[in-house]
Amino acid sequence: MILFEKKVNVHPYQEFFVMDSSKENRKKEQLVDQYSRTISYLRLSITDRCNLRCLYCMPSSSLVKCADLLSYEEMLRIVGLAVDMGMNKLRLTGGEPLVRKGVMDFIRNLAKIKGLEDIRLTTNGVLLHEKAVDLYSAGIRNLNISLDSMKRERFAEITGSDLFDQVWQGIQTACELGFNVKLNVVAMKGINDDEFADFAKLATQRSIQVRFIEFMPIGNKDSWDKTRFIAASELKEMISTLGTMEPSPGSRLEGPARVYRLTTSNGQTGRIGFISPISHHFCDKCNRLRLTSEGRLRACLLHNHETDLKALLRQGSTDSEIQKAIQQTILNKPKGHTLQDDLAGLDQVNCQGQMSRIGG
Ligand code: SAM
Ligand code: SF4
Repeated sequence: MILFEKKVNVHPYQEFFVMDSSKENRKKEQLVDQYSRTISYLRLSITDRCNLRCLYCMPSSSLVKCADLLSYEEMLRIVGLAVDMGMNKLRLTGGEPLVRKGVMDFIRNLAKIKGLEDIRLTTNGVLLHEKAVDLYSAGIRNLNISLDSMKRERFAEITGSDLFDQVWQGIQTACELGFNVKLNVVAMKGINDDEFADFAKLATQRSIQVRFIEFMPIGNKDSWDKTRFIAASELKEMISTLGTMEPSPGSRLEGPARVYRLTTSNGQTGRIGFISPISHHFCDKCNRLRLTSEGRLRACLLHNHETDLKALLRQGSTDSEIQKAIQQTILNKPKGHTLQDDLAGLDQVNCQGQMSRIGG
């Protein structure tokens, strides 16, 4: 914390706000990559630790050493510098972000960063019931909650823990408190495809957007199996049997999801999203960077190049050196990935990084 306050003195945010528009534009130019995408969104994996062991995610190899995880002070410094460059949206992820000790104070400190307009959280929901009130009062309004099954035994098989009831309670609490809740469902043939209709119906019964995510060849090498993959087009066809599907107004602002309004035969409506990183990738619109739990900045989930910001921080680099490294990572952001070109060959894990340290 002391480190961060010192840096605020070096980079007063007031300056950012009173600066004339040409200076502000020059700053924002730093965020434009060579394909004219403006990178305004940072995903921060605050820990690779997790209280679940989802079959498609957790690495079998060892965890990042504690000393190699970024401290909260280091994360605050990097986020402050990225916001100073014009980034304005942050998502906290992991591992499971809510398991890291001190996370609520960290979020409250993030919320003080002027110019950071939106802080969101992705969680497995296990600790949500107990932390929801604090999250709300810290200013979080948008939660993505991962849930691949509403059947208790199956949930335990997928996640390795019999905690469905606790997660469900967390989801209900979040809805009652007024969070904007999106449920992330990883679609896996032969594992949870018999529940897609139930998930879609849930979206018509509660104010929850349900988003189906294509199973990606990343993370746990032992669990990736291309026969489990279901393309978003197929998912959409399955859901269309429940009623009519129309593109949802404002869907283009929803990030990678293509969102539809489902109206069922009995007139109920709900919002359903499809996230198709493999079959219909959204690289041309990608506006994000990812900071791994050990401080490596990654321009693409599916490309393994990383910039070691932690090394820069710990060797005493100045703010402007760190901002240059961020800018260089943006300039090197690849145009896209090509996994969809070879769907037939998707039989090995393409991304060497583990999902839990990158944060999804
Ligand atoms: N622990 C939190 C959670 O589960 O929501 C946040 C981290 S988790 C890595 C972020 C998201 O990545 C989750 O929605 C999870 O379902 C998704 N995910 C992890 N591995 C995946 C894979 N191989 N394919 C598709 N989605 C995956
Ligand atoms: Fe943990 Fe999330 Fe990975 Fe599941 S998907 S093991 S909850 S980090």
